[in-house]
Amino acid sequence: NTTLEEEDKEIFDLVEKEKLRQYTGLELIASENFTSLAVMEANGSPLTNKYSEGLPGARYYGGNEHIDEIENICRKRALEAFRLDPVVWGVNVQPYSGSTANFSALTALIQPHDRLMGLELASGGHLTHGHQTAKKKISSSSIYFESMPYQVVMETGLIDYEALERNSLLFRPKLLICGASAYPREWDYPRLRKIADAHGAFLMADMAHISGLVAGQEAANPFDFCDVVTTTTHKTLRGPRAGLIFFRKDKNNDLENRVNQAVFPANQGGPHNNTIAAIAVALKQAATPEFRKYAQQVRANSKALAEALTNLGYKLATSGTDNHLVLWDLRPQKLTGSKVERICEMANITVNKNSIHGDKSAVSPGGVRLGTAALTSRSFKEEDFVKVAEFLHRTVQIALDVQEKTSSKMLKDFVIALEGNQDIAQLRNEV
Ligand code: PLP
Repeated sequence: NTTLEEEDKEIFDLVEKEKLRQYTGLELIASENFTSLAVMEANGSPLTNKYSEGLPGARYYGGNEHIDEIENICRKRALEAFRLDPVVWGVNVQPYSGSTANFSALTALIQPHDRLMGLELASGGHLTHGHQTAKKKISSSSIYFESMPYQVVMETGLIDYEALERNSLLFRPKLLICGASAYPREWDYPRLRKIADAHGAFLMADMAHISGLVAGQEAANPFDFCDVVTTTTHKTLRGPRAGLIFFRKDKNNDLENRVNQAVFPANQGGPHNNTIAAIAVALKQAATPEFRKYAQQVRANSKALAEALTNLGYKLATSGTDNHLVLWDLRPQKLTGSKVERICEMANITVNKNSIHGDKSAVSPGGVRLGTAALTSRSFKEEDFVKVAEFLHRTVQIALDVQEKTSSKMLKDFVIALEGNQDIAQLRNEV
């Protein structure tokens, strides 16, 4: 019963350093958040010790009476958080992550070598939506299925629904996937449903990035139009790292059985019960009026950040945002996303480089993705994001300066100005 500090000082110290990094920097990665203490407590609980392959009431191991109750509560709360009728929708809460949730959904919906269409990675889509390059099939979603990605319109950065409609009539996919990792705009679900229905395809939404906004009623509802909806639980939803698969119920429970079997035994083994308990806690929080206010603030902050960057003369993909993320195009400044990411990192601002549609090379992306979910959890408001935009502006000035004269003094000054607060500087020194 020794503590982590007593048992393994090396790991303990690194955890402490990471805590400090997270709490003293500006976290702008669009897929990250700060989950609550209660969620972390459930996640770090002895539930991690238990094996429970199967579903509540039908396990392959004994001793699951409490685990069954927890998983059932989690399933109930998942439906409640998204205001779903349990007669119409069911959910599997066992996927270990968003990627495994997606592969299990694909396993349930289509057969090997069936065709699928998802948004191309370079247009903001996710790897698991059929990513491949001209030379290589990269994701298992393109290795085991035939993928033909759709894109955004080069000039506007918006989904090219016309081209998707045309190509889908030719390619005739069995599955159409919507949802993205770097798309700042709303989805036209009725139109996607029509495109899928033209040849009897399934429509699946991967709402990983925006599920907190869907729960908070700050994004269009994919459930009204889709057959299956997947999500991660750790982005705007603010839970532990995991995935969920929602499925529409049919007469013979056909889809339900297919999804459940795809998760276990097809793609996973024992569920991570500590994570499922933590998801349940996060879903309880996501159904509260406070969470709805949080989702509203995430969007208001994103809008404020986009406006402030635009006022500073910057170009944004799609010229703005409808959700929690802003895709910042740095090509007009002749800077790469990697350079700005690195300089931000040196100033304790965490962002990630991201390709912008039309980039010549995927290796050197021309932009940076920014998200407001994490800092909104730390109570940032619109005026704070105007300040964040000013800091970002200064990183660009430094990047340009470094590019020209390699001035490290300017960067040092900036870090000092950003920390400003002696306590933080001192804490950092102590570590
Ligand atoms: N789907 C989307 C849209 C994502 O953005 C991501 C992760 O960033 C995933 C799925 C994969 O989630 P995970 O990293 O939990 O496997």
